[in-house]
Amino acid sequence: MKAQDLGTAAPNTWCPGCGNFAILNAIKPVLAELDGAGLVPKENVVVVTGIGCHGKIADYLQVNSFYAIHGRAIPVATGIKLADPDLTVICFAGDGDAYAEGLDHLIFAAKRNVDVTTIVHDNRVYGLTTGQYTPTSPSGFAGRSTPEGLEVSPINPLEMVFASGGTFIARGYSNRIDLLKETIREAILHRGFSFVDVLQVCATFFNMYDLYNRRTYALEEHDPQDVVQAQAKMVEWDYNSDGPMPLGIFHRRAAPTFGDNFEKFNSKIPDLEGKVRRVLKGYI
Ligand code: SF4
Repeated sequence: MKAQDLGTAAPNTWCPGCGNFAILNAIKPVLAELDGAGLVPKENVVVVTGIGCHGKIADYLQVNSFYAIHGRAIPVATGIKLADPDLTVICFAGDGDAYAEGLDHLIFAAKRNVDVTTIVHDNRVYGLTTGQYTPTSPSGFAGRSTPEGLEVSPINPLEMVFASGGTFIARGYSNRIDLLKETIREAILHRGFSFVDVLQVCATFFNMYDLYNRRTYALEEHDPQDVVQAQAKMVEWDYNSDGPMPLGIFHRRAAPTFGDNFEKFNSKIPDLEGKVRRVLKGYI
């Protein structure tokens, strides 16, 4: 299978120059490669999206997919993975989706180490609704809901997921597609909750290409298992300084997954399924 075999006939409605194209063009060859290598068969892949411009990626990928409601891609993905642990579940969410409406789900997925991959299209603006600020919009951002400029600093998603117990934490940039591909590939192969925040430029409502081209750099000689190093790199973020913004895998460690713990819990209750069925019988 080739990357182009994963495309669909759906007309693409993203704006010219949108960073979403890069994420689509990164995931396709990765899925083709993993399928070809026998690591992740295409039929076992399920994509779950939230609501926003990013969500259309489900229309453009020839794999199983599910449109969730706003902010709820992660709990849907969690349910799919628990129902069939053989599936490889990949969540796509926007920054409004993952860091505002769905923030609690992100934190709990990291804390529980749910074995799904979450890729956040972090364009730092609500693009589909034409330019309101999100939790990652930088201070000073002037949009439709803050015409005089935003006066608060953005959250740092990587630090937040790290503090929640995330076992794979990475950042990509839509203008560094080779690095993005490599990062997404590693995220999919990680056993446990893998989180990739992608600096996905919204060319129409918040064009950050110049700034990111100037400030981003790839992590080198970085040990993702060294938590002190990982934290030191995560704090290199956009608090209105003109400092560097690292890209790549910041943190990675092995830990039991939510599915492992769920199995253990189930095994302590003999005939759990039968008990649930008997209870439900009274209602259906
Ligand atoms: Fe992309 Fe922004 Fe256009 Fe949405 S509004 S498709 S995020 S460029």
